[in-house]
Amino acid sequence: MVWEFFYGGYSDSTLDNLIFTFFIFTFAANLGSFLNVLVYRIPLGKSVVFGSSCCPRCKQIIRFHDNVPILGWFFLQGRCRDCFVPIPIRYPGVEGFTAIVLGSVATCELLSGGANFPLGNNIATHFLWRGTDGLMLQPNVRLFLLCGLHVWCLAILITWALIEWDRKQVPICWWAVPLLGLLCLIGCFPWLQPLELGPNLKKMIFAEGISWNYWKTSGLVSLCGLVVGWCVGLTLKSLGKTGTYGPQGLALVGTLCGWSAVGSVSCLWVIIASMRHALARFLSIGEIRIRNGALPFLLLIDLVIATAIFIVCWQWIDRYFESMTRFLLR
Ligand SMILES: [Zn+2]
Repeated sequence: MVWEFFYGGYSDSTLDNLIFTFFIFTFAANLGSFLNVLVYRIPLGKSVVFGSSCCPRCKQIIRFHDNVPILGWFFLQGRCRDCFVPIPIRYPGVEGFTAIVLGSVATCELLSGGANFPLGNNIATHFLWRGTDGLMLQPNVRLFLLCGLHVWCLAILITWALIEWDRKQVPICWWAVPLLGLLCLIGCFPWLQPLELGPNLKKMIFAEGISWNYWKTSGLVSLCGLVVGWCVGLTLKSLGKTGTYGPQGLALVGTLCGWSAVGSVSCLWVIIASMRHALARFLSIGEIRIRNGALPFLLLIDLVIATAIFIVCWQWIDRYFESMTRFLLR
């Protein structure tokens, strides 16, 4: 019985799941490697698709086998193979961080069969674990696309954070296009928003007799998320609690996960930032970090972690939020 609940009746081999997890984390590390390229090229206005990566000093094209994420840096002992210029540890650091955060989110979503999504949709399967067998026997296109969308949004937030670390500006098209593009995408394909308006809010917004449909509610959830995220972000920014791109970051999270996510993610964000601050003070490295101007970068990284935690625990946080609104509206 317990077995059935966790595994959903699928016979599953641990080896399959381990191989699948390894594949996902490797993919995420490669994505991190691509983010390094993006961050280097976007502020320079270079093409992000064409042209091979080369050493910034000797201009020698980086060989394929040296370009392996994380491991490549260790093989080269942190130096260019041709001119021995040191390669900053930031490169494997970004790849490792991306692998851990994006890999964890993707693994949780795919192997659980979307158990983290809010209830009331056809993705959540009520099983905490479905494994690779469930994924292969009953492939769910919506689950794959939603997972891809979440990974994409987290990757965008990491890119903004790294550009902020370099103290460069994110070109307007690199934050406005993802933000509005995501809103249009959810407007056109409402099934990309797993959150619906609660029955109480439906009654409040759509008058009796006016038919509402899925399109309206999904688009509305995301539009409200964008506006609420932006406003909360601006408020936090005016208090000095976010970096330059805090409002854009929260607006992106709001568009992706709906307006109710903004409150939860903001709370998580503040908690994580405070914990990091306390740890830095404890280790007395806070002063150095702030002097180097890394604070806005660290704050955006905190937002990435808060969003990742929210996505993995979405269903449970949402259920809590709904019971809270029911209590307040009573
Ligand atoms: Zn070189």
